[in-house]
Amino acid sequence: MKPQTFADLKPKIVLGIAAHPDDLDFGAGGTLAAFAKQGAEVHYLQLTDGGKGSSDPNMTSAEIIKIRQNEQQAACQAIGGTSVHFLNHPDGELEVTMALKEEIVKVIRTIKPDVVITTDPTMVYDAEYGIINHSDHRAAGQAALDAVYPLARDHLALPKLYAEGYQPHKVKTVLMTNFTGHNFFVDITDSLETKFAAVKAHASQIQDYDRLKQLFTGMAEKHGQAAGCQYAEGFVRLDVML
Ligand SMILES: [Zn+2]
Repeated sequence: MKPQTFADLKPKIVLGIAAHPDDLDFGAGGTLAAFAKQGAEVHYLQLTDGGKGSSDPNMTSAEIIKIRQNEQQAACQAIGGTSVHFLNHPDGELEVTMALKEEIVKVIRTIKPDVVITTDPTMVYDAEYGIINHSDHRAAGQAALDAVYPLARDHLALPKLYAEGYQPHKVKTVLMTNFTGHNFFVDITDSLETKFAAVKAHASQIQDYDRLKQLFTGMAEKHGQAAGCQYAEGFVRLDVML
């Protein structure tokens, strides 16, 4: 399939669902900024508390959780986003459970996004980039997909939520971040700098900002070549049929 580009997707409400503060801004910050710029509400849902994200021996979990939540709020502000929600599951231990899916459904039924952005659960590793994908990223993506379909859509699914007034909601499109197999690109030429403002907000997670900037710029250039623009972010796009 020929990769599609940005033009045909103009969401009104976008929900990013990811394991850790920084996942969405690193993987899709230019896209979130581009959507916000064209008038969409952009919401973040962070499933874990990020409490393992420090190599500083003097850092405590409680402290890093607070730092990272503040960083995510700042990044959301930088891209022009609307809100950040935290479910605060322990970092590094995320499991695909009905309880997690129910929590995600609750947020989907409240925010009613037409586009959900999440991490591709099928990515276990990427040999080209030398990356083993964090198990939290896979769990987040799987639970997000299960929440989108069928649980958020069906009023008979999770009847307790329905009884509490959470009306069913159908998400139209899912964009998954991955390193390969992209079938959709978002032109981020005008929002690359905004992405870097959001990336920079996650200061506690960055050892060498210049190196990271170089890496993300190189990836955006590569995707831009595939998309026919200067800079782009690539996704696996899925338009939900049922
Ligand atoms: Zn992560």
